[in-house]
Amino acid sequence: MAFICIKNDEKIYSFIYSLKDWIALKEDKASSFNMACCGNQAILKTSKLGTQFFAHKAKPKDSNCSTGGETAEHMHIKYLVMKELDRNGWNVEVEKRGVTPSGVEWIADIYVEKGKAKIAIEVQWSPQTFIETKRRQEKYAQSGVRCAWLLRSGSIKDTNAITGDYAYSTKDIPVFSIYRNKTQGNQAYMIYNVNKLDSNSSRYNHRSFKPITLPLENFIQRLVSQGLVFIPYERF
Ligand SMILES: [Zn+2]
Repeated sequence: MAFICIKNDEKIYSFIYSLKDWIALKEDKASSFNMACCGNQAILKTSKLGTQFFAHKAKPKDSNCSTGGETAEHMHIKYLVMKELDRNGWNVEVEKRGVTPSGVEWIADIYVEKGKAKIAIEVQWSPQTFIETKRRQEKYAQSGVRCAWLLRSGSIKDTNAITGDYAYSTKDIPVFSIYRNKTQGNQAYMIYNVNKLDSNSSRYNHRSFKPITLPLENFIQRLVSQGLVFIPYERF
């Protein structure tokens, strides 16, 4: 599952296309579509969940062309995040490679720029220790990139993935829980660990905040448009 392909000589992204334009692109027989990884012929596909992606037309021989073994759901969330960022005018890069001033390399799943702002969004599907998250976060910080983490929550009873060491999250490591609500159709992915400030209060106290959930797209839009603010506990 790839989000990038080479159409004729131009790099294109699957998430920028509306469904209608994607179908039109599938019918574009005059253009050539090639995989960015190896240059072999690509075909345009749509997953059952609705992810638009490129795949090798013939099974790849090159091991560098592996899909990374990510689940369809994980890919779908990344796809929705990138689609929303693109829609909000951010310049999206997939698997962006960077290096810290001290020479340590990093690869961001989702990386966006607008003006001077640089943001990475990591959708963490398999459990990752707090120490590892902190280590990866520091690499981004040293490179002038802000990074937000979406951690998968397993069940409806346990929508809060922010437990253990993650409960001590600070402004340096913004972590949120993501949960797939199978009963809610097109608002399938919800984000937890967000609080709404009661605008009637002139001063903050512990009663000023109400825990809320946001649909994924709405959350992403707020995240990159300063619609989310980190308020430390010390202010209570
Ligand atoms: Zn390939």
